[in-house]
Amino acid sequence: MNPLLTDLSVLRAAGTVHLPGDPWYDATRTPWNLAVNQLPAAVAVPRSIDEVARIVRAAVGLGLRIAPQSTGHGAAPLGERPLDDVLLMRLHELTGVVVDPEARTARVLGGTLWQDVVAAAAPHGLTALHGSAGDVAVAGYVLGGGLSFYGRKHGLAASHLRAVELVTADGSIVRASADEHPELFWALRGGTGGNFGVVVALEIDLLAIADVVAGMLLWDLERAPEVVRAWAEWTADLPESVTTSLRLMRFPPLPELPPFLSGRRLVVIDGAVLEDDERAAELLAPLRALAPEMDTFARIPAAELIPVHMDPPGPVPGVSDHAMIAELPDAAIEAFLAVAGPDVDVPLMFAELRHLGGALDRPHDGALGRLDGAYALYAIAVAATPEMAAAGSAATASVAAALRPWASTGTFLNFADRTVDVATAFDAEAWAKLGDVRRSFDPHRVFVAAHEIEPR
Ligand SMILES: Cc1cc2nc3c(=O)[nH]c(=O)nc-3n(C[C@H](O)[C@H](O)[C@H](O)COP(=O)(O)OP(=O)(O)OC[C@H]3O[C@@H](n4cnc5c(N)ncnc54)[C@H](O)[C@@H]3O)c2cc1C
Repeated sequence: MNPLLTDLSVLRAAGTVHLPGDPWYDATRTPWNLAVNQLPAAVAVPRSIDEVARIVRAAVGLGLRIAPQSTGHGAAPLGERPLDDVLLMRLHELTGVVVDPEARTARVLGGTLWQDVVAAAAPHGLTALHGSAGDVAVAGYVLGGGLSFYGRKHGLAASHLRAVELVTADGSIVRASADEHPELFWALRGGTGGNFGVVVALEIDLLAIADVVAGMLLWDLERAPEVVRAWAEWTADLPESVTTSLRLMRFPPLPELPPFLSGRRLVVIDGAVLEDDERAAELLAPLRALAPEMDTFARIPAAELIPVHMDPPGPVPGVSDHAMIAELPDAAIEAFLAVAGPDVDVPLMFAELRHLGGALDRPHDGALGRLDGAYALYAIAVAATPEMAAAGSAATASVAAALRPWASTGTFLNFADRTVDVATAFDAEAWAKLGDVRRSFDPHRVFVAAHEIEPR
């Protein structure tokens, strides 16, 4: 059935649905990434698991496809596709966290944000393998692998997933775990979940970490050549207890920014050290020897790790690019500085290298078994206008291109917020198995994920 010839208003009987022209259509179709203009046939905003199931059944009955989306942090690939036969399933009203302090687990509903999980776990002396931004949702992040500042010690967030409940294409609620639909559970652990159903709940392991040595070191961008070299050397030989990021950052002069950021070009190293204070100080000493202008590394409550990375506090328009880097020899550092360092005038917000390895490199039983690289590169530019988007897209692509000679063959889909060859994120065996699981659980390709496995 062609949905364009159908009266989609019948969807309203199934739940909260906004159609083009409705007062809430524009507000609810707008993702976190404000540069993305997604124009679906309808937007659903369910508040319960049963409502998700009713809407899935009604949409499939009308011949619509369904794109699950929690926040729209990873919306860019969807915005690049026509969505006129797609119902966008926004999950921001389906939220909630229940912590089991004895079992050290949390059950979170499908649209829950990391900041709410961290806040609920903290009173029990627990935390989770969250990422750098508190307003990223658990679902998209974990289903894509999940790279945390605890990652080198504890691995990918997907490897700490206990169970997933999802509404599949026939509207049934399926629970996947090591014992229930194990092949689906395997696929959901890093295999980009939006391909198999609408995830309505996840059970995750929590970590017994009440406080952590974390913070940032900051220098003017002019110091980048020596700081990047020192960080590359430092990260080459570090225990797994340390996970850090290095960014070359450019801030516009904005009154809402603190003076140490406003209008500044900086090099920033931040992250977490899971050691006692003395050992942490010993490990940080080579970076501190570079006399940073600001040094905030100290023992802080684990719940305060999120703001350390200074990700934007709310939605922004952005374009980005990404590559997995196998090694950072001096020539690679030269190439990185040539496109993002102090001598160039480029419209980048930041060019970031996250240190990988350790437990992130040790295979676990999931579709994304390990991260194939020593560093993950992520470059982003503000894209408030189409002209800024074009210039930013070129600038971020040039950072990825400059480091390509040292790239591994892999892709980390969480950092790939543009249309990419999804197969490059997996080894050949995992890719074939993901196709099997997709054919088994979504044979008619009802679901539309940001990164699709065997699209229709
Ligand atoms: C500022 C910023 C900081 C970030 N920091 C990190 C980081 O530290 N570590 C890291 O690993 N990643 C990080 N990311 C990337 C982020 O993890 C991905 O963009 C992720 O996809 C976001 O998940 P989401 O659900 O919030 O986004 P969405 O855009 O809502 O979802 C992305 C995709 O995930 C799937 N999905 C989401 N929710 C559901 C659901 N309920 N059911 C089924 N499928 C679903 C869909 O396929 C969807 O297209 C960051 C991104 C940004 C913009």
